[in-house]
Amino acid sequence: MSVIDEVLKYNEGYARSFALAELPMPPGRKLAVIACMDARLTVEEMLGLKTGDAHIIRNAGGIVTEDALRSLIISHYMLGTQEFMIINHTDCGMLTFKDEELLAKLQKETGTATVTPSHFHAFSEVEKNVRQQIQKVKLHPWIPKHVPVRGFVYDVKTGRLTEVSA
Ligand SMILES: [Zn+2]
Repeated sequence: MSVIDEVLKYNEGYARSFALAELPMPPGRKLAVIACMDARLTVEEMLGLKTGDAHIIRNAGGIVTEDALRSLIISHYMLGTQEFMIINHTDCGMLTFKDEELLAKLQKETGTATVTPSHFHAFSEVEKNVRQQIQKVKLHPWIPKHVPVRGFVYDVKTGRLTEVSA
């Protein structure tokens, strides 16, 4: 059985005892989080969030890409979130390669060059990367100055979040 078939089977049980039908669309705790997609991070668990509490935007590295900004802007203006949190973590896969290396590998293996993705956003220092992501959000003209934007590193060995000074 494929993993997708396995998880679909699980979902049959989930739907049978579903109790979240009355949740409103806007996040109850008015929080939006950008986090790495790393499988060791369960953002809801580490932050004590429940379904309906927050928007959680995830991608490789927890990077403030154009698409992440799009989501934050919609999150704030359309759905009322008032605080933004960026979470990177120790031992991130994005620390293990350089954009140019992956680009060269892909072009060699596929024999094709493409326009998108234009960047992979690999990085070599996690705290520095968090600072850059905070800046990208804070400097965006459509992000109101009164919205707090704070960045953190999650330690995959301890479960602890440490704030990165902006
Ligand atoms: Zn990661």
